[in-house]
Amino acid sequence: MTDRYAVIGHPISHSKSPQIHAAFAQATGQDISYTAIEAPLEGFATTVQAFRAQGGRGVNVTLPFKLQACEFASHPSDAARLAGAANALKFDGERVWAENFDGVGLVNDLQNNRGRALKGARVLLLGAGGATRGALLPIALQGPAVLAVANRTADKAHALRRDFVAHAALQASGYDELAGEAFDVVINATSAGLSGEALPLPASLFAPGALAYDMVYGKGLTPFLRQAQAAGVAALADGVGMLVEQAAEAFAWWRGVRPGTREVIARLSVPLV
Ligand code: NAP
Repeated sequence: MTDRYAVIGHPISHSKSPQIHAAFAQATGQDISYTAIEAPLEGFATTVQAFRAQGGRGVNVTLPFKLQACEFASHPSDAARLAGAANALKFDGERVWAENFDGVGLVNDLQNNRGRALKGARVLLLGAGGATRGALLPIALQGPAVLAVANRTADKAHALRRDFVAHAALQASGYDELAGEAFDVVINATSAGLSGEALPLPASLFAPGALAYDMVYGKGLTPFLRQAQAAGVAALADGVGMLVEQAAEAFAWWRGVRPGTREVIARLSVPLV
């Protein structure tokens, strides 16, 4: 019998998850269906319950429901609990398991696809929202020399430092305090670029040979990647690999078989111009 999965968000029509999971299912011979469901803004839990009642086995969760997904679960993982957000749920009888695969997807993309070792690297995350929360622990586990978070609202970066104090020694700041600092990996985890806005970053932020990574994907050269390029950075990446890698983690968690990702990443990539 075909097992049913879905991605739930609002809006959802832009989601590439059905395409990604269909490719994984075909490549691994798994008999699943995977659809996109738009939940009303006030109706996340009702929508999940209805999908479950119809035999759904699991869901991916995207904006703006990742926090609610973590609260909804009876068994959130440590990673989801620490992030306060989940992007994958698995239904098992009365139990609802929750995971947050965004961070591990990012780490896999950086290290396995882009050959960028995080151990010993100076890593900076821009932004202090859900995406940064999900990324911090998986990055910290790789042993970077420095792990820093800078945010427009500096207080939010400081709050993250306190929340993660048992897991990582984070540097936290606003953008002003970045002057004089340089990093090997600079990750834009803000949504600033979606409205065409550039961040107030010093050109000296990028160490020689640095990688600039924008979690936003499918938009070509974002304002952040343009800034990095203007500062002389040659290694530029968007978040399509992170998206596909987190999907592969969820697929493996649900189905017990890990699909390859390279072909799907190549198919969804757009040129960074
Ligand atoms: P979020 O929780 O809403 O956080 C947004 C962050 O962006 C906050 O730190 C906010 O700063 C900052 N920000 C927004 N507008 C800004 C501006 N004009 N100038 C400076 N900072 C600004 O969002 P999120 O869930 O963390 O997602 C962040 C981005 O990552 C989104 O674009 C999302 O699409 C992307 N993402 C990609 C993947 C993937 O698989 N590739 C996965 C997850 C997320 P303040 O705190 O000061 O408001």
